[in-house]
Amino acid sequence: MMATSFTLPSLTIENQRIPINFLPTYRKRFNSKLCNVSKPIKLETSVKTFSKTHQDTSISNTGDISSNGFAENLDRLSLISTIGECSKNRNLVHGKQCHGLVLKLGFDQDKFVATTLVNLYSKCGDLESACKLFDKSSEWDIVSWNSFISGYSSNGMYNEALNYCMQVFTLDIEPNHYTFSIGLSICASVRAVEEGRQLHAYIVKMEYFAYPAVGNSLLTMYSKFGMMDEVEILFKELPEKNLISWTAIITGFYRQRCFAKALRQFCHMRESGEDPNEHTFVVVMASCGCMFVPMYGRMIHAQAIKFGMASGVFVGTAILDMYSETKQMDDARKQFEEMGVLASDVSWNALVAAYVRNGKMAEALEAFDRMLGNGVSCDQFTYSNVLKVCSSIPSLSSGQQIHAHLIKFNCESNMHVGSSLIEMYAKCGNLADAEYVFHSMPTRDMISWNSIIKAYSQNGYPKKAIMHFRKMTEEEGIKPTSITFVAVLSACSHSGLVDEGLDLFASMIRDYEIIPEETHFSCMVDLLGRAGRLEEAKDFASNLPFKPKASIWRPLLAACRSHRNLKMAEFVAERITKLEPGDPTVHITLSNMYAESGRWGDVDKIRKILKLSELKKEPGCSWIEVSNRMHRFYSRDMKHTEMPKVYGKLNDLVKQIKDLGYTPDTSVVLHQGVGVSKEEQVLYHSEKLAVCFGLLNLPTGKPIRVFKNLRVCQDCHSAMKFISEISKRDIVLRDNYRFHHFNQGSCSCGDYW
Ligand code: ZN
Ligand code: ZN
Repeated sequence: MMATSFTLPSLTIENQRIPINFLPTYRKRFNSKLCNVSKPIKLETSVKTFSKTHQDTSISNTGDISSNGFAENLDRLSLISTIGECSKNRNLVHGKQCHGLVLKLGFDQDKFVATTLVNLYSKCGDLESACKLFDKSSEWDIVSWNSFISGYSSNGMYNEALNYCMQVFTLDIEPNHYTFSIGLSICASVRAVEEGRQLHAYIVKMEYFAYPAVGNSLLTMYSKFGMMDEVEILFKELPEKNLISWTAIITGFYRQRCFAKALRQFCHMRESGEDPNEHTFVVVMASCGCMFVPMYGRMIHAQAIKFGMASGVFVGTAILDMYSETKQMDDARKQFEEMGVLASDVSWNALVAAYVRNGKMAEALEAFDRMLGNGVSCDQFTYSNVLKVCSSIPSLSSGQQIHAHLIKFNCESNMHVGSSLIEMYAKCGNLADAEYVFHSMPTRDMISWNSIIKAYSQNGYPKKAIMHFRKMTEEEGIKPTSITFVAVLSACSHSGLVDEGLDLFASMIRDYEIIPEETHFSCMVDLLGRAGRLEEAKDFASNLPFKPKASIWRPLLAACRSHRNLKMAEFVAERITKLEPGDPTVHITLSNMYAESGRWGDVDKIRKILKLSELKKEPGCSWIEVSNRMHRFYSRDMKHTEMPKVYGKLNDLVKQIKDLGYTPDTSVVLHQGVGVSKEEQVLYHSEKLAVCFGLLNLPTGKPIRVFKNLRVCQDCHSAMKFISEISKRDIVLRDNYRFHHFNQGSCSCGDYW
């Protein structure tokens, strides 16, 4: 009569993931006691039904059923079953109630009941209670040890889990294959190579390698360690290879950036008849992307279609990424469209990232817009990516719109996003807002500090950059990185703080153990060169631990020009031309220097070289954002519809600033064009046209922000200072090298650029 309200306990045990090899002995033990229970009932036991039963039995305890011990046994089994249910559903409250009953009924000494309780507490993450129970006895069997260890491991406490796991081997109990599998996976998670090798030795000694789960765990562990030689040997020895084994070896090669090997293993896997799953496809697709061979990617794509996985969210997104990596944006877009409604947030993000990666900024913004329109949720990576777009266009108004969106959705306090916002404002030349974002961040990490230091350095506020560097390292105790030093060293060079720069460079190696890279060396050459210490700069460049590249010599050539050292300029120019023969700027600088010292014969020679080799200067182009639209201008441009007005404004301004003392500097003009005077050539440079367009179209008081693809010339720099004075406007000019903030007749660079 009572028997029908219970379930065969073996079900509960399988749910506890107690290994199969334990089951026969267990079944034997219980079947003898349960010989009367013939009808298995569905596993629906809950604490409620248990309590009810318990009440019944306690009542019946006074009756005759208890006398033969049968009801007591049922109580015990139903308790085990209920606790098992509680662990399965992670129901700690009910589980604890059961524990209370266990104590009340005196089952706490029962090893099997106790094991179920350890399992319950481990699974529910109440490791303190699990530990207390565990400490009460020293006679736990391997099943209890396993559930105790996996409790720690599944709660992310890998070191504790590993300690307990290694303890098993010092005790007089025999581990089973589950102990090995979990131990190996813990070793892989914490990179415990030594312990992993010990487990490997035990596996060999105790002959557990043939268990597929153990063999695969061993493979996966070595693959995560990046020890691919071991993986390859084990893989060959594996008696039975399944999808997990193949995935372990393929993923291992991918992680070690051996993409071709990963791909080859995938081919072997297909030859062996094993079918890939989504994970295999994702890894193989990523390998194809990293190999930059479009053909391989296409072949794997075809396979994914064959298996009906190409439009699924994981594989589909991986295909999109692969096409974007191999610069096939049309295919990436097509893949995204084919995914249709299956495209997840991750896929949308991948699409935006793909456009950014391939330099398609307008498309990236458009995709982002569609994302918002479709109600797709954005994460920090989306925002960082679109903010990157705003910085590179650069479009302050788009950046501001995204900032507004971030405030609306309460995301602007995210550190990652905050740093991207700082960078966006800094690159759009809006330092005030970059500072505002930095100061309103609730917490700042190394990246946020790097962003603000870079912002000050790029925008021509070296003292502030250095001050923030000190705050970061001395007050906040944040370790600077290689990027921090690039920012702070270039700040020193732009402000002529030579000793400070030399000190910082020394401390970078001495105190922070950062190995200087090419950019740091280039900063140092710049630092010495700008300060006129040309010989030192040349010595520095000549004695580098590697053969100096053109990027090291270029700042020295610029320094030679500003300090008028023609002899050294010739030496440096020769070095750069040898390294990068296609660069016309070297010849142009040299020719300007010859012209300045009246060596017209040499000017002619260079002109011939330029003509012969057809080295052409990239045309100067400037752009400005007005009413959410970008307006582009080239030198002596006539294309823009408002050109007559722009030229009228410029001619007016030139007349006015000439009265203030401006004289056109024509030294930058290499050769006179037909029918155009040298003065006319410099006068109508693209940045001047863009600034006049801004003055005509932007409301009074709004700063004019102009961006240029080439370095600003001497004449434009001087004219901008006068224009900022006469028009009472702040002018921000970002060229391909740095920012110039013009205000009331002077520039933030201190005419030192
Ligand atoms: Zn110019
Ligand atoms: Zn300047």
